[in-house]
Amino acid sequence: MRRALISDIHGNLEALEVVLADIKAQGITEIFCLGDIIGYGPNPRECIDRVMENCTAILLGNHDQGAMFDPDGFNIGAERAIFWTREQLENPNDRVNNERRWEFLGMLPRSHRLGPFLFVHGSPRNPLSEYIFPEDIYNHRKMERLFQLVEKYCFQGHTHVPGVFTEGYQFYAPEEIDNEYTLGDGKVMINVGSVGQPRDGDPRACYVILEDGVGAAPGSTAEAPPTVERPNPGPRPPGTDPETGEGPDTPTPRNLATGAVRVTFRRLAYDHETTIQKIYAISELEPFLGDRLRQGR
Ligand code: ZN
Repeated sequence: MRRALISDIHGNLEALEVVLADIKAQGITEIFCLGDIIGYGPNPRECIDRVMENCTAILLGNHDQGAMFDPDGFNIGAERAIFWTREQLENPNDRVNNERRWEFLGMLPRSHRLGPFLFVHGSPRNPLSEYIFPEDIYNHRKMERLFQLVEKYCFQGHTHVPGVFTEGYQFYAPEEIDNEYTLGDGKVMINVGSVGQPRDGDPRACYVILEDGVGAAPGSTAEAPPTVERPNPGPRPPGTDPETGEGPDTPTPRNLATGAVRVTFRRLAYDHETTIQKIYAISELEPFLGDRLRQGR
């Protein structure tokens, strides 16, 4: 089965629309969002609505939390953007929808687990706010500690820099691996990049497709029927979630895999000039927040 993993939308509706259309065009129906739907960008309410409509697993990001509670640890520009974002979510002219959006934000979990896959916004140690930067591969202590907390594969966002971290202290940017990485026996942490504010020097929106290898031959683009996906689930242990099949003895997608477990990084140009002009027109959002979209920084 193929899933799309998106993160760090940051109120950028133009980027989000292009990404959602690309996901749809590939016949992918399950989308996970790893947090930071809002903050920085000019369309927080619209982005929350799109994520609510389209995503099945959604995590809390530090900017989402900042909008709900007192923002802590943000620079001045980011903090002003968060206060402006909060105003949009408190706008009395959109009261009914805003109540729904607040309720949604308040329910978001900090991590999600599915078979061998762990999903967080920041890191497995501090799911909400720890950064794992490419240069952290030189901090072996940090990487060892983080990998101790990863059972197999971890997916994260937060830095807005996509790529693959291996247990052997390597970091692969998407362009170094032709945008594809096949997961093997070694543990990996994968940053899915940012939809709405990439910071790796490439201004295009970024997201990841995760092919979990279950029920489809390698390279197949067809979705397997559910009966093929779990050929012999056996009796479910007590406490197992019937939806996700998660439970102590549930076979993981890994050991039911018939194809490669593979991630693909997608990069998509979008109309960032429109987003930039919207940001320029809002005095509470610093012009720099627009400029950086042009540069991917
Ligand atoms: Zn972010």
